[in-house]
Amino acid sequence: MHIIDLRSDTLTRPTPAMRAAMAAAEVGDDVFGEDPTLNRLEEMAAERTGKEAALFVSSGTMGNLVSQLTHCGRGDETILGDQSHVFYYEQGGASALGGIHPRIIPNLPDGKMDPAEIETAIRPDDVHFPRSRLIILENTHNRCGGSPLNADYMQSVAQVARRYNLKIHVDGARIFNAAAALQTDVRSLAADADSLSFCLSKGLAAPVGSLLCGSRDFIQKARRNRKIVGGGMRQAGILAAAGIVALEEMTERLCEDHDNARKLAEGLAEIRGLSLNPESIRSNIVFFDLTREDMGAQELAQGLEKSGVRVIPLGPGKRLRAVTHYHITSEDITQALAVFRKVTAG
Ligand SMILES: *Cc1c(COP(=O)(O)O)cnc(C)c1O
Repeated sequence: MHIIDLRSDTLTRPTPAMRAAMAAAEVGDDVFGEDPTLNRLEEMAAERTGKEAALFVSSGTMGNLVSQLTHCGRGDETILGDQSHVFYYEQGGASALGGIHPRIIPNLPDGKMDPAEIETAIRPDDVHFPRSRLIILENTHNRCGGSPLNADYMQSVAQVARRYNLKIHVDGARIFNAAAALQTDVRSLAADADSLSFCLSKGLAAPVGSLLCGSRDFIQKARRNRKIVGGGMRQAGILAAAGIVALEEMTERLCEDHDNARKLAEGLAEIRGLSLNPESIRSNIVFFDLTREDMGAQELAQGLEKSGVRVIPLGPGKRLRAVTHYHITSEDITQALAVFRKVTAG
């Protein structure tokens, strides 16, 4: 059976061009700074994000952690959204390992945090309070349906940050999806960020790795923090080779994933018992709700699985998520919708 796996864009496997580049990669010891392929990837990442420097890390989680450890000291406070990946899915790593305190404010449905609310959350200088240090934004916003944050919004947050001398980190795991959705470049979305991390291992289809980007000084400090969390890798050029192909060949095609997501959403919206607004789908993530009494999210997912379609139940309530990616074609979406109709019919 042909499996249409819509659980996540992390399921993407390296392309033949990536395999070939990995096999042929020139490598050295990156902890000595001597891996030419890795150095090239870091230069490319800095270039693409408009930052002075970049650092290869093993995952998005490591990128966000190393960034927080670099911006903040113990007892410092970050301001981040209640639906953010950093708050939700990273084990509270910044608190556990860095003594960094999270201040949570609500994410709006489109993934933004109201700049006025951010401002209200910033602590005055007082012995009772932690020191506000860092604002963390997420672009595109995973739990808010893959919505992109545009440059105007970034600017409005940056104005607040500058007024109070705070830094901004962007969790840009899917920043290339944001750029594709907004028909702009990553550089302009990163302009107001002091640091930005992005994943190679999601829609860009590389097997492993993320890049943390920022000023030369910031990246030099981040390099130390990467080492302390065990992220100093040796002949990592093998991985970087795939990352270079990802940046060269895989960013332009993301709009295909977005078109497929929109097609999926439009089809799902017509199915009785499923609820979503297709207009709200801006990138490759489709959240939808089951509105029927007689079926649970788990049950629906299991029914779909039996017919070769995989999605994941992701609360609250009867919410599920489907993500389009490199291995999903428009024809797959047509087929997946047929399976949805069959499983929900009985
Ligand atoms: C996937 C993801 C991460 C973390 O990525 P890993 O590589 O799985 O650690 C961080 N932020 C967002 C928004 C993500 O979707």
